[in-house]
Amino acid sequence: ATPTAIMVATGVGAKNGVLIKGGDALERGQKIKYVIFDKTGTLTQGKASVTTAKVFSSMDRGEFLTLVASAEASSEHPLAKAILEYARHFHFFDDLTDMKDGHNKSFGWLLDVSDFSALPGQGVQCFIDGKKILVGNRKLMAENCVSVSEHVENFVVELEESAKTGILVAYDNDLIGVLGIADPLKREAAVVIEGLKKMDINPVMVTGDNWRTARAVAKEVGITDVRAEVMPAGKADVVRSLQKGGSVVAMVGDGINDSPGLAAADVGMAIGAGTDIAIEAADYVLMRSSLEDVITAIDLSRKTLSRIR
Ligand code: ADP
Ligand code: MG
Repeated sequence: ATPTAIMVATGVGAKNGVLIKGGDALERGQKIKYVIFDKTGTLTQGKASVTTAKVFSSMDRGEFLTLVASAEASSEHPLAKAILEYARHFHFFDDLTDMKDGHNKSFGWLLDVSDFSALPGQGVQCFIDGKKILVGNRKLMAENCVSVSEHVENFVVELEESAKTGILVAYDNDLIGVLGIADPLKREAAVVIEGLKKMDINPVMVTGDNWRTARAVAKEVGITDVRAEVMPAGKADVVRSLQKGGSVVAMVGDGINDSPGLAAADVGMAIGAGTDIAIEAADYVLMRSSLEDVITAIDLSRKTLSRIR
């Protein structure tokens, strides 16, 4: 393509909310064979909310939620925010009292924690009252030798089959409860996947979440090629494995954990509302944060480059 054609196309893109970083990225766009979508925050709204909190110990619900929320308070993960938001409702009157007393501090009911650590792709760990608390997935429980009864496992499976993420909680090495978290699909997601297929492009979903939830979400949106339980560095491996046959691969993502994949892709597309690190790693930025613009961008690339031949 001529420099003029590229300049015009980049301008049309910008006017439509698609920032394209350079002519090479624009040219690669027309040959895309695969588009890999991150699940959380890309295909889904990333506005997770707790739908179930089940206690599997003698603890009462309020006590359980206070422990879990305290453990998650230092995490930036969307799941952590959902848990805090949910627990907050159980402390409405505490927050109100604090306000009346002039403290004006919400979340004053959170417990003190020590030795907090976030374990990417697994969950969080810290100590409360000198006892270890773990909040996360099965892998986190397995690595800490927390036994999960068949009863609890069945409950988690049930959540996952209905597209929810099951979060397990262990305190002092006992499994004390499970949270079910739902994150709805973006409204345009299914239509965009269908559109890509019509353009002869293969959609793929990649996620750090578990297989059962991943499959349920993929089915809802119309994707059959799913890669689940993938650690952040593994997202780049998925990109490279699809590139092996010489195919041009795009990846769409929003999170810090997507940046290795976005950098490895021939065309990395970042959701505009995503993290700065994802935006930096990408070739295209979808400023309106709508998945429709994945199609806008590819269509623009195809049209510009064919018109000037
Ligand atoms: P994705 O690739 O879908 O964005 P992540 O890699 O961020 O997912 O997380 C993968 C899984 O790790 C989550 O589904 C959850 O089970 C667990 N996890 C990660 N962070 C947390 C957290 N702060 N609290 C609980 N679970 C977490
Ligand atoms: Mg994400």
